[in-house]
Amino acid sequence: MQSAIKLLLSEGIFEGILPKSKPNTSFQITVTLTTIPIFACIMVKLHDKQFEKFISHEDIMHAINGIAVRLNEELKDSKPVFLTVLNGAFLFSAELVKRFQHECELSFIKVASYEGMQRGEISTVMGAEPSLKGRTVVIVEDIVDSGNTIEAIMQILDDEGAEHIKIATLCYKPLAYGKHYKLDYVGLEVNNDFIVGFGLDYDGLGRNLKHIYKHKPSKMTNIVLFGPPGAGKGTQAEVLKENYNLVHISTGDVFRYNIKNATELGLLAKSYMDKGQLVPDEVTIKMLNAEVDKNADANGFIFDGFPRTEAQAEALSVLMDEKNSQIDAMIALEVDDEVLVKRLLERGKTSGRKDDANEDVIRNRIKVYYNETAILKDFYKKQNKYHGINGVGNITEITQRLSKAIDTL
Ligand code: AMP
Repeated sequence: MQSAIKLLLSEGIFEGILPKSKPNTSFQITVTLTTIPIFACIMVKLHDKQFEKFISHEDIMHAINGIAVRLNEELKDSKPVFLTVLNGAFLFSAELVKRFQHECELSFIKVASYEGMQRGEISTVMGAEPSLKGRTVVIVEDIVDSGNTIEAIMQILDDEGAEHIKIATLCYKPLAYGKHYKLDYVGLEVNNDFIVGFGLDYDGLGRNLKHIYKHKPSKMTNIVLFGPPGAGKGTQAEVLKENYNLVHISTGDVFRYNIKNATELGLLAKSYMDKGQLVPDEVTIKMLNAEVDKNADANGFIFDGFPRTEAQAEALSVLMDEKNSQIDAMIALEVDDEVLVKRLLERGKTSGRKDDANEDVIRNRIKVYYNETAILKDFYKKQNKYHGINGVGNITEITQRLSKAIDTL
């Protein structure tokens, strides 16, 4: 009998002797118990976003203990109703309520206030039973940020005639809180980060996480694709933007689009472009800033044909600073001049680009590149960001060389 009890308690191989009826028979049983780990990693991905571990399960429990100690002292004779705000507060509430050692009742209320990661309006309200008239009610919340949910529930409890109302929240965002209600029991103060786990969700996911996680914004990847005219920047940018989910900005393309649509910018740029000269910095920088602004949510950019002067490179680094980002690399396609002239004349037969059709204009663009633009190699070299890539070969080969450099960033 004792052996049988042991079998239930532990994992391993067990041996024993059967009882008197079969005295000389021994037996051996192998028992394997499967343990299911609680969902807990350093990083988790929910929908499209990455979250990193922020508050450990132990710290959460410590905070809940702290609240429970005070509730036990302060509400021992009040026979409170713990009003759990669903769905987020269910785990917190379960931990809190089982630590309350006096008479109490439970009730639940549901208020929908979030759409994804945006703060939204309170839309649905369900609950709260039994009647709260004349009762001491403890609102149990997972998180108080703007305070909109608390405000809505306070209104409901007032209407119901609750006598004393206390608020217990696991997390509190003081920077976001805009209401005057006193938060009586606060477990953890957090900054304005978007957090998930231990009941908190991001679009329905993450409530079952053991720890609390915070959103980790993905780092942008910004690349300057560099090289003389005809080096193949445009062709490669088209492939790389798909492979790395980046936005491709070609200043030459933007100028050409403006010329085609006869905009003021186009008319201004045309005279320079037709001669193979650079469009003035002031105009180009302004245009580039506008193009970046149009893509505020981008994962990163491939800048093709920009910067072409030191002033443009400086302006680009200011712009990246403003976005809390940076240029990660200048990746330069290196191609011999005579190959370039041949390629561009060839392209001119089909591209309809005036500046590709005339050998003098082509040679002038290459000259401008060496006189005004090539110095940028040093600009990025000094920052250890320059990657020279052999730009001669077939398209796939060159893409592979570029990808190898990007993958190291
Ligand atoms: P691309 O298509 O890059 O070869 O550029 C064609 C022409 O557009 C250049 O020869 C310049 O006249 C003009 N352009 C493009 N990008 C710039 C820039 N960053 N700065 C000044 N001019 C530019």
